Amino acid sequence: MHLKKRILVTGGAGFLGSHLCERLIGQGHDVICLDNCFTGTKHNIYHLMGDPHFEFLRHDVTFPLYLEIDEIYNLACPASPIHYQHDPVQTTKTCVHGSINMLGLAKRTRARIMQASTSEVYGDPEQHPQPESYWGHVNPIGIRSCYDEGKRCAETLFMDYHRQHRVRIKIARIFNTYGPRMHPNDGRVVSNFIVQALRGEDITVYGDGSQTRSFCYVDDMIEGFLRLMATDDAFIGPVNLGNPGEFTIRELAGKIVEMTGSRSKIVMKPLPHDDPRQRRPDIALARETLGWEPGVRLEEGLAATIAYFDDFLRRNEAEAPGAPQS
Ligand code: NAD
Ligand code: UDP
Repeated sequence: MHLKKRILVTGGAGFLGSHLCERLIGQGHDVICLDNCFTGTKHNIYHLMGDPHFEFLRHDVTFPLYLEIDEIYNLACPASPIHYQHDPVQTTKTCVHGSINMLGLAKRTRARIMQASTSEVYGDPEQHPQPESYWGHVNPIGIRSCYDEGKRCAETLFMDYHRQHRVRIKIARIFNTYGPRMHPNDGRVVSNFIVQALRGEDITVYGDGSQTRSFCYVDDMIEGFLRLMATDDAFIGPVNLGNPGEFTIRELAGKIVEMTGSRSKIVMKPLPHDDPRQRRPDIALARETLGWEPGVRLEEGLAATIAYFDDFLRRNEAEAPGAPQS
């Protein structure tokens, strides 16, 4: 039995945010979903709109906000390289000003606040897998820096609001997560490959495809968020959340071609600048403190994601191009 809370989810109309809102509503909480709809869309939350415990608020986190709430999940920020590099100054502002505004709100209301940080704080890591104690290897002046350094500065702000103002914080370092409601055109590898395979287009592997990533299914990630938020005030993180299974990008392409039965060819494209060579979370801390580890295998998660995009693309071809329906 959960105590009913009033919970703010920033970035709530995005991929992870919409799943989080759904889970929180399911637990009987009042949810305020804040989003400026840059990469998120109301289509992701239409199914929640009629619920009297759900409220959508179009707002940009870089501007102050006055609300009375018990908990904040701060997810607002474009997550895919294409989108966060589209307006890099706004990306850094969202990370930094957005965090300051949400931390100010947490301070005034005494709300607990969780930051959606990222494995990008480790940059192109020299230590593998990456434990939370690793300080990272990040280029401060590259094309990914608006996001990587923005998120690093956000972590600094969270820690300083905690030390200086005793704000009750939690920091989650999220590794690559995938699933239904990813934006079909955001350029992330799982959505790109699935959409390309379903359309019979070439599968674009960047570089030689030997770089690795670890892919966590969305339901596992949301469970990790909820468990982290439920820890007592003494535990603040940062804590890695991700699936420790590690795959090369070429392997991922092969799996998706096989699972979709596609006749797409795999083609090589240039590797983007500062593309990390390898990434895999060390989740020992999450196991120990949250009793959490991912339960969904890559094949299972891909099957659900392929089914979602298959339906999405069929409907999009029948109707005018639009955003995902739920
Ligand atoms: P997403 O792009 O689908 O969601 C981000 C949401 O934030 C969108 O709905 C967008 O419209 C909103 N937003 C962006 N700027 C805003 C602003 N200034 N004010 C208000 N809303 C704004 O991405 P996602 O994958 O759902 O990621 C959610 C969070 O998790 C992000 O903070 C991201 O950095 C973090 N994260 C995600 C992953 C992943 O693999 N999905 C990995 C690491 C970290
Ligand atoms: N990638 C790829 N083809 C694509 C999209 C991405 O080979 O069409 C590669 C990309 O270069 C990177 C990996 O897949 O090495 C993961 O990319 P994504 O943008 O999903 O996440 P991130 O680089 O932020 O981990």
